[in-house]
Amino acid sequence: MENASNAYAPGDDSPTASGGSYAAPKPSQDPDAGRRAFRQALIDARVLYPSAVDGIYGRSGLFENIAEGLNAAISKLGADQHAEVMRFPPAMPRKDFEASEYLKSFPQLAGTVHCFCGGDREHHRLLARLEQGEDWADQQRPTDVVLAPAACYPVYPVVAARGPMPGEGMVVDVLTYCFRHEPSIDPARMQMFRQREYVRLGTAEQIVAFRQTWIERGRQLAGMLELPHEVDLANDPFFGRGGKIVADSQRELKLKFELLVPINDGAPPTACMSFNYHMDHFAHAWPLRTADGAPAHTGCVGFGIERLTLALLRHHGFELAKWPRRVRDALGGL
Ligand code: AMP
Ligand code: ZN
Repeated sequence: MENASNAYAPGDDSPTASGGSYAAPKPSQDPDAGRRAFRQALIDARVLYPSAVDGIYGRSGLFENIAEGLNAAISKLGADQHAEVMRFPPAMPRKDFEASEYLKSFPQLAGTVHCFCGGDREHHRLLARLEQGEDWADQQRPTDVVLAPAACYPVYPVVAARGPMPGEGMVVDVLTYCFRHEPSIDPARMQMFRQREYVRLGTAEQIVAFRQTWIERGRQLAGMLELPHEVDLANDPFFGRGGKIVADSQRELKLKFELLVPINDGAPPTACMSFNYHMDHFAHAWPLRTADGAPAHTGCVGFGIERLTLALLRHHGFELAKWPRRVRDALGGL
């Protein structure tokens, strides 16, 4: 752990504590105790608004101000990338989603959009079932739309449709809400959350160099934000029996690194940024080509906006006025 200070608890009179309204629970064997306590503190302070579903929250003005500050800081850090800015809605065409092979790896996380497509008779049945408290959702039909599982997915078909890329490849800047069906009491594991990403498309060498640059910059950002952190090799939660083999191979090939920050007391640190090398996976789904016509390689750096915001609240407290001046300056003078 780098820069490992434990500066979160108001009432904690350590010199690094910078105020706020969250008193961390006593160390416990149960990691969920820390998760529940932090979630409750966020709800009690009206930083997050709870809903009937775990992982779906409203955000307060404070939360959004911090999130905007983070996005501004990330833009500043990436200004030299001359990235093409693309903003997509939190949904994408089902046919592109199918092409991405997401369902092969993460069927458990996917969210599809279904709609009512019937006539009057079906409508009556729907209302009758609702009235009787019966399940009605099985009558809904899939649309051509799925929820975006990651901010970079909509980029690849757009770039592929343009034909071969220029010799220097491309960098794209994306930001969107993503959906992953992973209900949890952990406030840092939401079902809808924002990912800000820089996506690199080009040759293998270009992607590997890009990822190295961004691992350094990720550390730099966490340092500026005075968050304790470490960077570690990681793997995605591939589904099923075969998933372990894929995850092991992802680790062996060192395709994914994460920057982790302790957020929940007594629980392992939380991945707040990821640095991914997809090799030429997406060039098999779409005709992504480098200047010389070879299948393009891709990679991305993903910033979890909600998790970084929560990490800041956890370590600096719920009162911006009490945050270290340098952290507020790094967030554009909050
Ligand atoms: P991934 O594509 O899984 O590497 O995710 C990129 C980043 O998005 C992670 O490093 C997290 O910061 C964030 N993230 C992933 N899943 C969630 C989630 N369920 N809730 C909040 N943030 C998430
Ligand atoms: Zn990505």
